[in-house]
Amino acid sequence: MTPPFVDVEHIRRQGQGGAYERGVAYFRDGAVRTVAWDPGSSVIESVVDGSARSSYRCRIRLDIARRDRPIVSTFCTCPVEADCKHTVATLLASNRLAEAVPGGTRQPDSWRQLLASPAGTEPARPATGLALGVELRQRVRRSASRWAPVRVESASPRSLDQLGSDVLVGLRPLERSARSDGWIKGTVSWDVLRRAGNTFEPGQARRVGECGPRQSASRH
Ligand SMILES: [Zn+2]
Repeated sequence: MTPPFVDVEHIRRQGQGGAYERGVAYFRDGAVRTVAWDPGSSVIESVVDGSARSSYRCRIRLDIARRDRPIVSTFCTCPVEADCKHTVATLLASNRLAEAVPGGTRQPDSWRQLLASPAGTEPARPATGLALGVELRQRVRRSASRWAPVRVESASPRSLDQLGSDVLVGLRPLERSARSDGWIKGTVSWDVLRRAGNTFEPGQARRVGECGPRQSASRH
């Protein structure tokens, strides 16, 4: 039987402290050797290659009825024991099985399914979410001299109090934090969004990027 699809946001939340990013890399490298889904116990079992010669076994219990938290528990035989990169890679591999069989038509005999990478296809890579943030900025003169340059900086309640209230409103891109699930400045900028090969979902990156300032290179 086909495993249920687990939303990537739940997997991201499970793999905190960098386990998610490392798990994505493990999955992409094909470290997940086998994935099996047992609908009776609602458990995914897997074998994942470790960094050394060893391989680890993972068990992940799901409860799809719990929409806000479908991952009940994770266990791994590695030293971390739970919520590790191996369990993240397992969930991504399990999702790929779920996606590979629309409607779940696979025969229920596949208790042990070998996860083979179809030749020439790149695994779908989970993209970082993007949002547009509104930021208060203010014109700041960092020196008492009236000839000192005026700069535009991000405003905070404190700086507004200290430096006056010559305030502007600006837009900036924000990215979804893998750690807190909140919107953060992170590594995203208008320039990053325009660069090819960034880790953001291409459609989102284009739409958010269109809200940014015009590219200086387009002048000539
Ligand atoms: Zn592990």
